[in-house]
Amino acid sequence: MNASNANTELMPKEVYLCAICNISSGSCSEDCKFCTQSAKYHVDIEIYKQKDLQLILEEANLAIKNQALGFCLVSSGRGLDERTLKFVCEASNLIKKHHPDLNMIACNGIATKEQLRILKDSGIRSYNHNLESSQNYYEKICSTHSWSERFETCEAVQEVGLDLCCGGIWGMGESNDDRESLLDSIVSLDPVSVAMNFYHPNSALPLEKNIDIDEALLWIRKTREALPKSMVMVAGGREITFKERVADIFKSGANSIVIGNYLTTSGDEPNRDLLMLEELGLKVAKSCG
Ligand code: SF4
Repeated sequence: MNASNANTELMPKEVYLCAICNISSGSCSEDCKFCTQSAKYHVDIEIYKQKDLQLILEEANLAIKNQALGFCLVSSGRGLDERTLKFVCEASNLIKKHHPDLNMIACNGIATKEQLRILKDSGIRSYNHNLESSQNYYEKICSTHSWSERFETCEAVQEVGLDLCCGGIWGMGESNDDRESLLDSIVSLDPVSVAMNFYHPNSALPLEKNIDIDEALLWIRKTREALPKSMVMVAGGREITFKERVADIFKSGANSIVIGNYLTTSGDEPNRDLLMLEELGLKVAKSCG
């Protein structure tokens, strides 16, 4: 079936908006081939160790203005070290002081249960950690850490009682079997939300994009069908992958999007996204439930 001809049975009633904030950018020692923040590929991006806390708060204010329910503090790097952990906690505490109802999410790589508990005590409700690809394909796109370490962090997130947001990146040169395997692994974790990213090519990175619009819509539908209760969030690569057919992601079962900019690339104007939702008759969710 052509995914664009899918009926509207999977269309959500409301859409959850999430904004992301890159609190430290670039200079990562890992060699993930899909990532502009790896120092190995010398991508021309903005590099900083820690974003100013006031600026992070301003981005949280903007997220709320754009009707985002979730705000994600993302740091570059393999995982949490003491300095990053302290900084994420500071940022979370500051934002919670101003916006107690904002759903705080952290995305800081490989983490231990102890570190995750500390995040939870600082107001973090969810942790985003993506498996990125199938277990088999992962060693072809990263040699500096393992897929198993990623999976173990996801399990640790659930063990400490944080909501798990777990997904991956589609279109990095993987096969359909890899996509099936990735989805099976995500399903085995039964995450509260699934982050579906679609590879954003960059001439400095060694990967070619291998997914078209219909395939991408198909994988959204498969994910929705496999995880009927999870939030299915279309994140990075939405605009460049779906172009003028971006509304079809909702007919395929997505019920969440990232609003505003991504980590190192720009997103659509938030007002444009809000208008699109209005035109589709989709309400912006007012509560995470
Ligand atoms: S560990 Fe994270 S920040 Fe570093 S290269 Fe990999 S994906 Fe990018």
